[in-house]
Amino acid sequence: MPLFEFTCGKCGKNFEELLALADLESAEVACPHCASTEVIRALSSFATGGGGATGGGGCGSGCGGGRGFS
Ligand SMILES: [Zn+2]
Repeated sequence: MPLFEFTCGKCGKNFEELLALADLESAEVACPHCASTEVIRALSSFATGGGGATGGGGCGSGCGGGRGFS
């Protein structure tokens, strides 16, 4: 099961959550610090194995602009 990184949109803290890919879209991920479900998924190392489709142009985990990323 891949480990995903999240940033809380409310308290701004980072945390990690183990999620099955099948659960990723449907699961409600809550911040362990403030219990908010307004969390933003960050790119993990898992997401970089696509074989070049993402360009690899130095975006890193800072790219993507937060929510709505899929
Ligand atoms: Zn929080």
